[in-house]
Amino acid sequence: MISTYLQTPFETLCPEWNKTLQIKDISQDEHKVIKKLMGDATTCIVGEAFKGNDEYFNDCYECWEYAVKFNSIVNSDKPNPDPEDFRLVRTDEIQQLIPEFVNHFNEVHM
Ligand SMILES: [Zn+2]
Repeated sequence: MISTYLQTPFETLCPEWNKTLQIKDISQDEHKVIKKLMGDATTCIVGEAFKGNDEYFNDCYECWEYAVKFNSIVNSDKPNPDPEDFRLVRTDEIQQLIPEFVNHFNEVHM
């Protein structure tokens, strides 16, 4: 990459998710909505970057993997995840994955 290369940041790629992930106090109901959105290829973080188009699921293995990873973070195996878990633990995991995804998206899909 040349040094003048500027990435499109997460808040531009995924403005809605960027807002959602900044919510500090997530209610049980909001948590359910977030889980549902993250479980759908068109409304998850990757889906939003592709503006609601889910063709990446067939076209880009890496994006497919990111969508699966984001989903598995939010939709954990716990039967009744605590909203507190989501706020304190799970968003940290998401925040670690976001720069990797943003790098990939900028390099391959911009
Ligand atoms: Zn991709």
